[in-house]
Formats: sequence, structure tokens, C-alpha cells
Amino acid sequence: MKAIVIDRDVVDKLVEYVKREMPNEAVALLLGRQNDEVEVEEVVLVSNILKSPTEFHVDPTELYMAYRKAEQKNMDIVAIFHSHPSSPYPSTLDMKFMKLNPVVWLILSTINFELKAFVLKDKLYEVKIMIRKKK
Ligand SMILES: [Zn+2]
Repeated sequence: MKAIVIDRDVVDKLVEYVKREMPNEAVALLLGRQNDEVEVEEVVLVSNILKSPTEFHVDPTELYMAYRKAEQKNMDIVAIFHSHPSSPYPSTLDMKFMKLNPVVWLILSTINFELKAFVLKDKLYEVKIMIRKKK
């Protein structure tokens, strides 16, 4: 996969959510389509039931609802987003879950609000983020 394409207003929505949840990690599921590029169409903000600044676990009901919503709209969950109170790189724990969920993982640092995207195949790859202005 070459890149992940996200609308500016989706990024703004994520940053706003992250600020609201600080210092805990905020999580969101990104719905969209995957071809050569991953195209994000919609964001579903979900609860981190651990309410922790170092790890997250998505509320299972909200996770189920997000999958249903994606299915109804003929989309997939193409990326998992969460925030870090440190640098925007996957933690050891993240890597464990990335192996189970080989979609794009977006991480936003709450230190400098830098956003990065990764995918774990046989090794960790950084994915280019293309932020699209509103249509
Ligand atoms: Zn993490």
C-alpha cells in the first residue's frame, strides 16, 4: 500500500478528540476503502475502556457497532487511530496488536501533534499520509 488519504476535517476531528481525552490515549476507527491507497471516508470515535495514558482497549460493543456500520456502508475498517503521550511510534504492545490487525495504524503524538502511519507486515513500514483539503 502506497499511502493513506485523509480529509483535513477528519484529522481536525481526531485532534479535537485526542485533546479532550488527554492525558489518556484516545482511539478511533477509520472507515473507508482500500485499493492501492487507503482512503478514509469516515471516522468512528470509540472509548478506551482502560482510560490509560499508555495503552488502550476498545469498548467491545463500540467495536462491534463500528464493524456493523462499515458493513452497512460497504466499507472496511481501514485504519486504527490512537494517541500517544510520547513520540508517534508503535510501542511493543502496539506491535503485538498490529500483527493481529494488519491494517494501517495511525498514531498522533500529544507532545507535538505529529501524526504518523504504520503497517506491520513482516516488518514495520511507515505509510505516507496524504491530507486532503475539503472538497
Ligand atoms: Zn500505542
